[in-house]
Amino acid sequence: MEDKRMFDGEQARADSGWQTADGSEVLLSVRDLRVHFPVRGSMLDSLFSKAKPQVVKAVDGVSFDVHRGSTLALVGESGCGKTTTGRALIGLNRPTSGTIVFDGYRIESMDYEALQRLRRKMQFVFQDPYSSLNPRMTVYTTLERSMLLNHVCPKREIRDRAAVLMKTVGLLPDQLSRYPHEFSGGQRQRISIARALAVEPEMIIADEPTAALDVSIQCQVLNLLLELKERLGLTMIFITHDLSVVNYIADTVAVMYLGKIMEFGHTKSVFRKPGHPYTKALLDALPRRKALDTRRDVKLRGSIPSPLDPPAGCALHPRCPYASGKCAVQAPEFVQRQGTKAACHLLTQTENGERSGLMA
Ligand code: SF4
Repeated sequence: MEDKRMFDGEQARADSGWQTADGSEVLLSVRDLRVHFPVRGSMLDSLFSKAKPQVVKAVDGVSFDVHRGSTLALVGESGCGKTTTGRALIGLNRPTSGTIVFDGYRIESMDYEALQRLRRKMQFVFQDPYSSLNPRMTVYTTLERSMLLNHVCPKREIRDRAAVLMKTVGLLPDQLSRYPHEFSGGQRQRISIARALAVEPEMIIADEPTAALDVSIQCQVLNLLLELKERLGLTMIFITHDLSVVNYIADTVAVMYLGKIMEFGHTKSVFRKPGHPYTKALLDALPRRKALDTRRDVKLRGSIPSPLDPPAGCALHPRCPYASGKCAVQAPEFVQRQGTKAACHLLTQTENGERSGLMA
């Protein structure tokens, strides 16, 4: 592929500030990714208004690595920029600045044709399986089209491969002749996963793949993704607002707020000892098993500010119970902790980066 440019994987690991103990290979490296959307007013506004045009900073300086064979969860409330980040990774949203390197390919500067070819290696599973499947196509036609467009195999092999794919996702080959409306929500999501697998990708980006499903079906789809990841050696980015799902499925987690990463690290470390007040607030919002849990909750004030006018300094400061004057004017740097890194001024107050008292 002619768009391939050299990429220093070692450098990417060093820049990330965090790496797995086994030093596994970085498959995807994102640096200082920004996706800004200009807000267009009416034509009269643009002719006569002297005000600066407004910009929605959906993603604002995000950096992370994804190691081959691992699962990263992008988690946060609605509007935090997690879906925009996922779409930018696959070229569905063009970055305003920053770099995205996937398996040595610079995605942000690729043209349309090169991106189309690369999407064979990177597939997206959408939240709503019904709207992402063509209602006029049978399951077979959907899978066939995907395999033909991506030159996966000779035409004569497609029917056999489609039958194998159906079995792989827990459906019957006999169901290939059916249309999407003839399936339940969970089965439709299985078809979406089969379509993603049809091109033999290296990475799957799943955007809230269980959000539109009943709880019992959510579990089945999560188990299917986990099993496929292990069996096929896939790398996965799992986008969700549900932290309880993260603990189940992800090796690492990036907690996002207003277009920025607040905390990044091993899922177990983040869950055991969150470093950022925002992560702690999200964890405290989960239902607790122990009725007599005496931990002190972090309660955020108000609601998320508009990404049209994000707060200066730390983006969380208008809502954070620990905010000081410094938080309103100076953006915090990441502070390395054991297994995680978090961006909060409180973490710089002690030498070893551990907080005492407030969130202990
Ligand atoms: Fe809260 Fe300040 Fe830390 Fe931001 S930097 S999370 S406002 S204490």
